[in-house]
This record gives sequence, structure tokens and C-alpha cells, in this order.
Amino acid sequence: MSDAAGRRLRELGDVSVAQLRHVGDKRVEALRTLGIESVFDLLTLYPRRYIDRTKRVDLSDLTVGEEAAIFAEVTKVSSRRTKQGKVMVEVTVADEGGSIKIVFFNQPWRERQLVPGVQALFFSKVGEYRGQRQMTNPVVDVIVGATGAERDASRVARVVAVYPASGKAGLTSWEMGGFVEESLARAGPLLDPLPDAVRDEFSFVDRTKSFWDIHVPSDLADVAPARRRLVFDEFLRLQLLLALRRRRLEESATGIRHPFDVNDLDVRPGDEVSASSTLVRRFLAGHRFSLTNAQRRVLGEIAHDMSSPLPMHRLLQGDVGSGKTIVALATLLASLDGGRQGALMAPTEVLAEQHLASLRRDLEGLTMRDDRVLAGVRPLSIHLLTSRVRAKDREMVLGGLADASVDIVVGTHALLTDDVRFAALGAIVIDEQHRFGVEQRATLRDKGKEHSRERADPDLLVMTATPIPRTAAMVVFGDLDRSVLDELPEGRQPILTSRASTPLEVAACWQMVRDEVARGRRAYVICPLVEGSERIEATSAVEERTRLALGELRGLSVGLLHGQMKGPEKDDVMQQFRAGDLNVLVATVVIEVGVDVPEASVIVIEDAWRFGLAQLHQLRGRVGRGATQSYCYLLGEAPSDEAATRLDALVSSNDGFALAEVDLDLRGEGTLLGARQRGRSDLRLANLRRDEELLVAAQRVAGALVDADLSSEPALVDELRLFIDDDEADYLFKS
Ligand code: ADP
Ligand code: MG
Repeated sequence: MSDAAGRRLRELGDVSVAQLRHVGDKRVEALRTLGIESVFDLLTLYPRRYIDRTKRVDLSDLTVGEEAAIFAEVTKVSSRRTKQGKVMVEVTVADEGGSIKIVFFNQPWRERQLVPGVQALFFSKVGEYRGQRQMTNPVVDVIVGATGAERDASRVARVVAVYPASGKAGLTSWEMGGFVEESLARAGPLLDPLPDAVRDEFSFVDRTKSFWDIHVPSDLADVAPARRRLVFDEFLRLQLLLALRRRRLEESATGIRHPFDVNDLDVRPGDEVSASSTLVRRFLAGHRFSLTNAQRRVLGEIAHDMSSPLPMHRLLQGDVGSGKTIVALATLLASLDGGRQGALMAPTEVLAEQHLASLRRDLEGLTMRDDRVLAGVRPLSIHLLTSRVRAKDREMVLGGLADASVDIVVGTHALLTDDVRFAALGAIVIDEQHRFGVEQRATLRDKGKEHSRERADPDLLVMTATPIPRTAAMVVFGDLDRSVLDELPEGRQPILTSRASTPLEVAACWQMVRDEVARGRRAYVICPLVEGSERIEATSAVEERTRLALGELRGLSVGLLHGQMKGPEKDDVMQQFRAGDLNVLVATVVIEVGVDVPEASVIVIEDAWRFGLAQLHQLRGRVGRGATQSYCYLLGEAPSDEAATRLDALVSSNDGFALAEVDLDLRGEGTLLGARQRGRSDLRLANLRRDEELLVAAQRVAGALVDADLSSEPALVDELRLFIDDDEADYLFKS
């Protein structure tokens, strides 16, 4: 079944690889282990690299001490045991230029894999043994197997594609290339769903050529244009889905026009405001500090969204300490101004409680009109709802939310449970988004809609604690509008960060803690992360506290905070630290996000290499929140180059956005995207760093196509169905 214009990707998704000539049951199974079941899967397993067979590295040219990739044929293989009892496989490979010995330790199966006649790529440093050049435990890619059948005489490719992981499945790159070539040949011309205008604008090669050239290039120079086209297609599909989701949301949504006027932001602390002004206005006029320009700009964007008839769906990014909280507060107040309620959701109880305390502090003295009370006005009613809130209080809060006597609720996941009903939820702020899934975001939103008397969608502001690179945000949060706080409040000094691993450096670190405490400041000590065990982590924190209190920090009052402590105990400790009754807080990562004690000026992070870069930056952000110079010490030796790079990045930069880019480089996009990708993941070739330009272009094109009505592009719609399930397709494409 094929269109006159060519075959659709979706059809290829329906054809099993079992239909290929050389693929029998065994190979079907082998391909399955690579996640390949259909011809589409096969064609989107892209080569990892290419070998230009006309430009081989001559074996006689290898330099000892240098990395090399050699492509050669196995001429001899043998194995024996070393004196230490290890299995050692010795392989001799040769090309026209000469031969070289390759040895493998503890890899007995190499003897079966690398039989004479096999052609493979070997990568490693070239070493020397008894005057002979040699490779030890190189990375191996088998390109051509030993049996004659595989050496399909019709394939005389000059450039050979090397496929990832095929060796593990017992398939050679040559075989993979054969399957792909057969698939492409039998598929014939592929339908190109891209509108001509778009193809022309970017001078893209067509789809058929792009698939041929990425898999079977006749010249290496053909690969890059093919890749560019295929990457664009991946981005375009993703951005189309995001744009459609957004479009549907807007169509089905009943938004609320909140009375949030941008002019309400034009007040400074101390300005006269009348008692009848909006809460936002009265709040800003009575606040401790005036907004930074960035805060003002972002609140302007939020005011615009909130006063419009469409529900706000906005992501707020800002580096640690950029002042996201006040933006959240104003957003909630704008909802109250319209006679509705607000909800603030935090990822942990410690953080929810801190938010509650700071909300109550910052909103103290603000009153709102309420005809149900005798005086006609009453103070704002702000309450906590976490799993720790006891039954009686909980009932009271639930009652208050249902009858509108509670204005703002601050909570954790507990806000998502079924018995939480709102009288009229107008705005939701989710803090530290990376801890919440997309589904939870939707649940809270639905809750607002279903249970409110208006049946309207509350406005939503999502705040991330950790900046994520722009490209990643476009992919992961592509259905949200974005605001960025790109400025820190005035007078902040960059935190001085240093690594401390020698005894001398470590001693200097503890001395700094003592000095700062002597100056009236406070310090955090973060205990090592213990993967998977909060209990062991807590135990080690208890021990570390005792050790420090009796040793390096003797004479100071040293407190303890860890995840195994009971709620009230934690509150108590935080309270004492805030008040300065404790000089030093030894803690596990429970303090990672959001904790705000401006007097804290030193943070010591033990075994710093165990933490991820984003997490380290977050932890460091617990200091440097006031005007005084702050310090961060990263203790412990880095066990790997990667860990050292992470720590050095932190030492050299205070900029969360820059660090996020480094992190993306170090970890790749997989970890970032993981949570969001369902079903068939479609970013196989694209690289967010390298292909940013194409991503931006795809987003623009997707927006324009959806605005113009996608139903006039049936070929595009058809292939989007490859990447979503039927329910979602029904939702997105219903007419
Ligand atoms: P984060 O973005 O990390 O959540 P916070 O909202 O906790 O940052 O703010 C960090 C610190 O900066 C807090 O102590 C807060 O009171 C202070 N702050 C926020 N905005 C301003 C401002 N415009 N001027 C001065 N200080 C500010
Ligand atoms: Mg915060």
C-alpha cells in the first residue's frame, strides 16, 4: 500500500523486520533486543559513525601512545591463561600495511567473536609490549562477519556505516547495513510530508534521499545534509505535538479574567496606597524591598496572562536566589483580588512549611473584604496542607477551602488527594517543578476546574528551582510559555567556591566556618549522599554532627537535620537555626531546595562529587542570599574526570544557566528528557546542544503550521500518529 507520492513512515511502522529476506527467527530476536521490530524502527536506528574504506589508517603508521581507530581483518586468534589466572585472548589483525596484535583480558568470548576473516574496527590507545605495537582491551565494532554468506557481493560500499550496540545482539554492522539497504530498496520512494515551502526555505534534501544518505552514503559529504533533514523532522514532529496540545488546551479551556493590572506593579515600598487598592498593590507598597527589573518584567507577563480570558500556562525559570518567591506571592494575590483562592505546591514538607512561614510573614497586615464577617474586612487566611497536618486541622482546612474562608493553601502532594475541594481556585503556583510530574500538574489543574463553582481553569505558574538550558526547556516544557528571571537582587556578591581535599585545605575550610560564626553568621554542613538509604544517610549525619561538635567545631552550637526526623523536630531545628540559636546546621540533602536563611554565609559539602551539578548549585544557593560575602567548600577527592569537571565547573561559575549547559554536555539529553518521553521516543538523532538552530526553526514552523490549520497537511498528521497512542490522537486530531 503506497501513495502515489510515496510510502508513509507509518506504513513502515506496520511492516515487521521478519519480512526482510535475510531476517529469520534468530535475527528477529536479535533485532528485538535492540528495540527494533518494524522497518521503521530499523531505519531510525542511525549509524554511530562511518568508515571510509578508501581512507584507512595504515597499520604501519600507528604511533605508540596515541588513540587510534583501525579497521582490519582478523588473521589469527588464540587464548590462554596468564600466570594470575586471567583469560587472555590474543588476536592478530592485518591490512595491506602490516599487522598488529590485540589482546583482551577477561573477555573469553572474544575468541568466538573474532575468528579469522572477521573485519572489525578497534579503538584504543596504541601500546607497546616487548617492542611490538599492541592494543589492549580496545572497543570493538564488528563490521563484516566471517562467513561467506554475509559478504554480499552486491554491497561494495565505499563508506560503511557502523551501527551502535549491534555487537551485543550478535549482529554485525555489515548485516545491519544489509537489512537497511534492503528495506530502503523495497520501500521505494518515501512520501515527503514536509510542505514544499519549508523544504525550499531550508534547502532540505528530500526524505528518500535523507534516509539513503544517512545509512548508505556514497560519499561521506552526503551524511551531514541527510542528518540535518532527519533532525529537523524529529524536532518538527515533537514541536507539532506540543503546539497541538497547547491548542487543544486553549480551545477546551475556560479561563478566568483576573483583575491583575500591569499598573499595579508601579508601586514602590512606602508609596501611599488606599485601602481599596488591590492586594497586589498594597502588598508591593508594604514590602521590605522593591522589585528587581526582572521581577517587574516577569510579573508584567503574568499580569498579561492572568487578565486574559485564556488560562495561564507559564514556566518561570530563575537562578537560585533570583527571587521567585515574591513573584509567586503576587500571582496568588492577584487571584485573591478577583475573589478566588490560590494554591502553592512545594515538593517537600520542609519547603511547604517554610513557604507558609514566609507567606504569613510577608502578607501580614494585608486584609481582604469579606461580607461574612462583622467588620467587613479580615486578615488573609493562609493554611498548610501536608500529610503531616493532623486530622482535626486537616478537616478545618478542607472545610475552609470548600467554603472559601481559606484564601491560600500551601501544601505538598497532599493537595492532590481526592478530598481536597476548592470553592473557587483561581491560581496555582508549583514550586521546584522538577520534582513534580506532568501528570500531577494536570491533576491539580483539573481539581481547580472540577470542584470550583465556576468550572473554570485556574491559572498555572510553574517555577523551576534549577535553570535548564533553553533548548531542553523547549523540548520538555514546550507547551508552556516561558519567563526568565535573569537578574539577581542588587548587592549580591558571587559566592566564593573552592575545592578542599588536602588536610590543609580542609582545615582552612573549618577555620572559615569558625571565623564566620564569630562574625555572627551561620553555616551549613551537608553530609554525603547515601544512594537509596535515608536511614544510613541519617546515621552518618548523626555521627558527623557528633564528630564535628567534639572536634573541628568544638564550642559552636551544632544542630542536626535529616530526613528521618519527625516533622515537629525538624521545625524546631530550622527555627533555632533561623533565629541564630544554632550556629551550624549539619544536614542531609533535605535542605537542598528553597531553604532561605539569609544569615547563612558558609556551606560545606562533604563528598561533593556524589552530587549532581544541578544539585550542587542548588545546595550552594543556600548561602549568598544576603549582602555579605559567602563561601562554599567542596570536600573530598573526585574519583573520576567527569566528577572533577563537575566540581571545577562549580568553582568557576555562579551562573545556573551556564552550569545547566555544562550539565547537559556531561549527562546528555537522555536524563533530562527521560520523564517526559512516552512510547516511541522520537529524538534519536537530534542533539540539543548541536542542533539548537534546527530546534528553533522547527518550533517556528510547527507554530505556523498549527496556526494555519494542520488538517491541510494530512501527511504530517498521519506520521504524528506514530508517536502517540490512540487516545491522545483522538484528542489531538478530533475535528
Ligand atoms: P529563589 O528564586 O531561589 O526562590 P527567593 O525568592 O527565596 O529566591 O529569594 C532569595 C532571597 O532574595 C530572599 O532572601 C529574598 O527575600 C531576597 N529578595 C528577593 N527579591 C528581592 C529584591 N527585589 N530585592 C532584594 N532582595 C530580594
Ligand atoms: Mg525558591
